Amino acid sequence: MKKQNLANKNFNNKHLQAITTAKLLVNDIHTTCPYCGVGCGIRISKASEKSNSTSPIYPVLVNGDKRHPANFGKLCIKGKNLADTLTNDNRLALPKIENQVQKWSRTLDYVASKLTKTIAEYGPDAVAFYASGQLLTEDYYLANKLMKGFIGSGNIDTNSRLCMSSAVSAHKRAFGEDIVPMSYSDITKADLIVLTGSNLAWCHPVIYQRIREEKERRPELKIVVIDPRVTASIELADLHLAIKAGGDLSLFNGLLSYLNEKGCIDEQALTTEGLDDALRSANKDSVQFEGAELESVQLENAQLGRKKLANRLLDNTGLSTTEITEFYQLFASNDKVVTLFSQGINQSTRGTDQGNAIINCHVASGKIGKVGCGPFSITGQPNAMGGREVGALANTLASHIDFPNKTTEMHKYNKLHDGLADFWQTNTLTKKEGLKAVELFNAVDEGKIKAIWIMATNPVVSMPNHEKIAQALAKCPLVIVSDCVESNDTLQYADVILPAQSWGEKSGTVTNSERRISRQRPFLQPFGEAKADWWIISEVAKRMGFSKQFSYNGVSEVFAEHARLSGLQNKGSRAFDISAYGEITAEQYEQWQPVQWPQPKGRTIKISDQGFFSDGNYYHNNKKAKMVAVDSAPLLTESHNNEQQSYIDQKNDLNKALFTLNTGRNRDQWHTQTRSGKSSILTNRHPEPEVSINPKDALALGIKEAQLVTVSGVATAFTSQESSTTVPQIVMRAKITKSVGEKALFIPIHWSHSNFNQGSISQLVQAKVDKISGQPAFKHSQVHIDPCLVNSEALLVVKAAIKMPIKLDNVLYQVEQKITGGYCYHLASHKNPAALFSDLDALVCSQSDTNPAMESLNASEPLTQYFRKSYLKQGQLQSAIMVSVNKNDLPQGWISQCYQLGASLNDKRELLSNNARKLQQKKTFCQCLNIELKQVIQAIEQGDLTVADIRAKSGVGNGCGSCIGDISLMLKEIHSETH
Ligand code: SF4
Repeated sequence: MKKQNLANKNFNNKHLQAITTAKLLVNDIHTTCPYCGVGCGIRISKASEKSNSTSPIYPVLVNGDKRHPANFGKLCIKGKNLADTLTNDNRLALPKIENQVQKWSRTLDYVASKLTKTIAEYGPDAVAFYASGQLLTEDYYLANKLMKGFIGSGNIDTNSRLCMSSAVSAHKRAFGEDIVPMSYSDITKADLIVLTGSNLAWCHPVIYQRIREEKERRPELKIVVIDPRVTASIELADLHLAIKAGGDLSLFNGLLSYLNEKGCIDEQALTTEGLDDALRSANKDSVQFEGAELESVQLENAQLGRKKLANRLLDNTGLSTTEITEFYQLFASNDKVVTLFSQGINQSTRGTDQGNAIINCHVASGKIGKVGCGPFSITGQPNAMGGREVGALANTLASHIDFPNKTTEMHKYNKLHDGLADFWQTNTLTKKEGLKAVELFNAVDEGKIKAIWIMATNPVVSMPNHEKIAQALAKCPLVIVSDCVESNDTLQYADVILPAQSWGEKSGTVTNSERRISRQRPFLQPFGEAKADWWIISEVAKRMGFSKQFSYNGVSEVFAEHARLSGLQNKGSRAFDISAYGEITAEQYEQWQPVQWPQPKGRTIKISDQGFFSDGNYYHNNKKAKMVAVDSAPLLTESHNNEQQSYIDQKNDLNKALFTLNTGRNRDQWHTQTRSGKSSILTNRHPEPEVSINPKDALALGIKEAQLVTVSGVATAFTSQESSTTVPQIVMRAKITKSVGEKALFIPIHWSHSNFNQGSISQLVQAKVDKISGQPAFKHSQVHIDPCLVNSEALLVVKAAIKMPIKLDNVLYQVEQKITGGYCYHLASHKNPAALFSDLDALVCSQSDTNPAMESLNASEPLTQYFRKSYLKQGQLQSAIMVSVNKNDLPQGWISQCYQLGASLNDKRELLSNNARKLQQKKTFCQCLNIELKQVIQAIEQGDLTVADIRAKSGVGNGCGSCIGDISLMLKEIHSETH
């Protein structure tokens, strides 16, 4: 099995040092945040001697760009702390083949010849690209052009498949094209904002802040939050519907039925087809309101194999008629309604149907195509929309041009296909869709795909069923990975590693959730020999024999070609049209100001507030919107034969309670922490992965707060391969909270083998997908949870990172946390505290062999099983070990500051003193203003029970504002405890 030891670096250190000298290229530049789909504008300026840059090596200041229409100068905590992440730790400097450093020219030749040979021997479908929403549009454009146009296969998919592909499918079914018809300004012009499947306060914080400001200005603005969890987003909610997981389809079907019943659908005014069928389907979810007896709908419960009488709407949503009626009345009575939806809707086996159920309500009631109205799918990644524009999903050809299907007029398609082949000057343009992400990695596993090129993403962490992904990559004859980091869970399977430029070094465009195209501009000299992704792809393409079609003098030429293609045979037939920029010069590209598409050639450029559908024209051939009949009845589960069922029963403990696992994001982290994990401010809030569990379930299972627990997967299928694999298990820390319902769990997605010895949470996610979009159902896996007993817990603080997993006997739990000036390792062991302490002492001493000037101070108390030791050099703390029986006895939040100059000597002494337990309380609440949790608690204890009062009293929430939602969460928990 192929698995590289990436720690074995074959670098010539002198050479490396020479090429990695950090340099700032410019003094003042406008660029775009690399994290979420809000796409905030950022201004990078050179720090003066007086101003404090938080960047460890670059003297830069990061501020919000006041001119950028996405954020008008605001940034959330992640954006604000970007300077902190500008280090070159774990950066990939040089190309490698089979873990040997190579010159670029040799590596590119090698990749091109290997791909060419694979295609010659096995055909174009034996090659695949797996790209990422982190790529810039120009990178994406060339990857798609090379695969579909010249390799001649549709096998390019992207990690955006995991994020919003169900919304893409829903848009295509309803509108005839993947169109988000909204602008951010619509949100603040609405009278009712519905958030469903979206924890906007944490995942798109700057948009949430805009809503908060609007609500302060217009208290009559109504906000409904639909979420099974209590999240920070309920801070502003007039109504929180704690819906059952998967109940959204019924809820919006019921709404459609209600809108019809109340006469809110004006058929004459609609340019729509499919209304009758959609209503017939939606009526199965209706409840007769206002005093009438509930109408029962007979449901076939396929799983139990028996019939039961229930009201489908109430059954599926778990909501009361009062709650449902209140929501329906609000929706019906407000003309301006925006429904924001995100991963909670998309990441489901019914994700596309759920998207269409939402869109149906807007289309039928005419709440679309007007200012302040419409369904708004918010994208997760910074450039997911750019990938959609170029067509880098396996089921789109290019530039919003589709493959032929039943709804595409063949002659129109053939004309477009021929036109595209002419445009790209190719005769190998594919005519069929490629494999979507889950199918694509299955094909790698089955040996059908012999060469895969993974760009700027880490599928071993992010795809469901990570064991299978790792196994597939290990077997694949050629794995090429372009990345900016030197090691991660995927890179260890790479045969060829290509160092790519990172944010701050690369140049190109990104498109945010409101279709706004902005520039990412370089302000740093590229690290080592890292190259732009678009350049790497074009150099490989040239070496494969496509020089003429892949020769560009710069990135602006790639963008101009992408813009020209959008105008191909267009004349208004496709919404995506930026042909106005088809002749853009390099200088104009440099001066680019953020604009929304469409921008067709010959029309005056309109920077903002571009709407769609105000003229009633959609993008199906008949120009009508299509209402899709979506049925909320559960899909039939797979039927198993006796042998299969017996296998599944053996694998699962039928006496154990089943929990529904929901996965998602923490406020301060981004994806696998590649960048955000470098900032100690961002790791401070959630240093370890936690599983949230309801207090009732915790009590029933004997789980205590902060105790370790084992979360185990459940066998749901039988295949010959799966029969040999074990059921996955992850040990992590329990967080007991009423924010999740009973029999539900929530786990964040941000940890992987790079910083957690248990690996990625995706191993617990079953590879079930939406049948239309192919998007995996990350929100609905079935798991068990049990207490995990350990005998000791420890913190190890060191200045330099230790390779994970740390080689220590019997330490079953290890998490790495970046802290200011070093690293903290959170450990737990079956050994007793004295034995673990002894092992850690030996580890620190072995790492300090070369450092004879080290002194140590030991303040252990064997009688109470509390051990601690500090290692100092010239009075300065170098390392520290703390071991106890209970996690709660160890210092927590404060540990992130233990190397900081600002930490008082007294605090440092307390590491060793009898008061060490006191430091457990020193948690930071407001990270950017460094205000401690205890100040918030004190304010609450003084009886100040509004968010505004607590902010005024304690000062929290007055920096980036990201923690304001957390105050309301605390208040809600306290309120529910006292009632
Ligand atoms: Fe970056 Fe998103 Fe935060 Fe804006 S809201 S600063 S784009 S992470």
